[in-house]
Amino acid sequence: MKIIQSPRELQQEMGRLRSRGKGIGFVPTMGALHEGHLSLIRKARSENRVVVVSIFVNPLQFGPKDDFKRYPRRIQKDRAMLAKEKVDYLFMPSRSSFYPEGYQTLIEVKDLSRGLCGKFRPGHFQGVATVVAKLFNVTKPHRAYFGAKDYQQALIIKQMASDLNFGVEIRVLPLIRDKKGLALSSRNAYLSFKEKERALAISRSLNWAKKAIRKGNRNVVSIRNGILKSLKSKLRKIDYIEIVEAKSLQPVKSIRGQIVIAVAGWVGETRLIDNVIIRA
Ligand code: AMP
Repeated sequence: MKIIQSPRELQQEMGRLRSRGKGIGFVPTMGALHEGHLSLIRKARSENRVVVVSIFVNPLQFGPKDDFKRYPRRIQKDRAMLAKEKVDYLFMPSRSSFYPEGYQTLIEVKDLSRGLCGKFRPGHFQGVATVVAKLFNVTKPHRAYFGAKDYQQALIIKQMASDLNFGVEIRVLPLIRDKKGLALSSRNAYLSFKEKERALAISRSLNWAKKAIRKGNRNVVSIRNGILKSLKSKLRKIDYIEIVEAKSLQPVKSIRGQIVIAVAGWVGETRLIDNVIIRA
């Protein structure tokens, strides 16, 4: 595995590979890798001649009160995991090479960024869209891989890639959970044993909702209240419980067609998100 830190060097290397007809698959991450990341990397490995993974904790997508400073950084372990997956390139730009002094450009995907996490994390999706656009420009992948764990993010990236003619195929892969159902996240490293137990209420409530819908409940208020009831006592704060149309992310009035139930809440000082995609 070749490790590249300079954006220019990666851009040149990728240009050479592309011109030789090699298919490039790209998986952007912020590191502290887990099985969720590995599922994307394995898919990329199976579909491309060249696999590039980036690790960059992107300051632009963290708000002033967010956890940028304490975000887990485990580069040695990550490197070993990536080498084991036979990743070809690890791209790790420094903050100053990616956002040098005088940096000015931001990308905004308007409508899709407004709801859900967009309401609670102003500027977050602007930061995400901007860094992914930059990463696409240096890597110029044929395919890029994202997880449905960050469902809103994946839709925003798809929209951006299409709006800005990136010519990259965006692949969105299923959310990976641990044995107990907890959605895997680098931020789970913040959770104590007791907090992890409490966090399980989120996936359990989504599972309950899925079953209730399967049994014929199409009532948004009743499903939402059911989730709220089981989360109230377990989470310190609930940012949102939303039932939205899967493509537009607009709230639905009744449960019909492809919908997503998305939850964001706090266990102690850790903000967690989770979702289920349901066809009703
Ligand atoms: P992150 O390092 O958290 O920025 O995530 C990098 C990529 O991995 C994003 O596309 C995420 O959606 C994806 N990802 C993170 N956690 C999971 C998970 N539990 N299952 C599937 N994909 C995930």
